[in-house]
Amino acid sequence: MASRVRARFWDPTGDRYGIPTYPWKMAPSHLRTLRQLTAEGLRPGGQGVQAQVLWCSRRYGAPGVRTAYLYDVRFALPKRTATLRQRAALSKANAARRTCPECLTDVGYVLPRHLGTCLDCAEEIAA
Ligand SMILES: [Zn+2]
Repeated sequence: MASRVRARFWDPTGDRYGIPTYPWKMAPSHLRTLRQLTAEGLRPGGQGVQAQVLWCSRRYGAPGVRTAYLYDVRFALPKRTATLRQRAALSKANAARRTCPECLTDVGYVLPRHLGTCLDCAEEIAA
């Protein structure tokens, strides 16, 4: 049974399916699903779908052949997470939250909101 399924979905040249097709867990290691790429901090980049994985799902209510598209990890690009500019903006925002408006120093901790100044200035004001 298992080998019959494997033969049915084994089409590395794409003769039958149009694109290279592999049974579940039989694809070459450089081909990854979107989820696998994401887990590695990658995205497909400009490339289209390179191949597919087919498997039979016996899930109740939705049995049938399932497809997962595969991308070539060699063409993948780093995921666009926080860009340099976004990171700079973030650290600037954090610096602003640590900078006391009284003594204009980055005190190294986020100013207590109820004081609005650093602890030293708050003490001086209170005294
Ligand atoms: Zn201060």
